[in-house]
Amino acid sequence: MIETKNNIVNWKDDDHFGSDLSLYYGESPLVELKVSTGESKIVVVWDGYAEQVRTHSIKQVQSNYKQTVLCRDGNCPLCIVGEKVYARLLIPVYSVGSGDVEILQFLKFDEYKSLYSQVKSILKQADFPLALEICREDIFAYDVRKIEIPGDKLASIKTQVESFLNSIKDGTTTMSDIFKEVDNSLLNDPSLRRKLEFKGYDYKKFLVEDHSEANSVADMFAM
Ligand SMILES: [Zn+2]
Repeated sequence: MIETKNNIVNWKDDDHFGSDLSLYYGESPLVELKVSTGESKIVVVWDGYAEQVRTHSIKQVQSNYKQTVLCRDGNCPLCIVGEKVYARLLIPVYSVGSGDVEILQFLKFDEYKSLYSQVKSILKQADFPLALEICREDIFAYDVRKIEIPGDKLASIKTQVESFLNSIKDGTTTMSDIFKEVDNSLLNDPSLRRKLEFKGYDYKKFLVEDHSEANSVADMFAM
């Protein structure tokens, strides 16, 4: 059984993605940190806090674009039809350019120039907090350097990042919200329905209850 529960990552370990081993995003107030080809961003990693989530990368119904969706814990229609599970790491970082906390996410690529291989080698020996300058040279090639945080910036960054980290701890913020969930629109895909039915599953069992309608019915009874 595959679990989607977020796991806190220990950078001292060798494997941050667990034993097993893109894009549409859910509607979320959280911003994913994106570095375009040729662009450079500076981020502050406050204490190395990171979570692992399990995702699928599937084609959108209406187009050929891939979208990343969260694997549904234990009852996932995409797992049932054999869609590969991709572990992703999510790190909250302070983005110097935007002045906000954003989510840095990556898949596991161990190639020398990959974002993951470079970030992991820096964080493994890190004294936190630290700043990273991330330059994206090509689609899959990054150049990541550790740089100094100016002393006069530390206090304001600390206030912002710590309030974000607290909101994760108290459950008001969930980093995996940057990804879409397996919702009813996804289950409208006829090929997914046919595959589920072929395997003996009724797709209706995976539909999510429409809360807006449920609430209005509840309101009626309350009157
Ligand atoms: Zn799944």
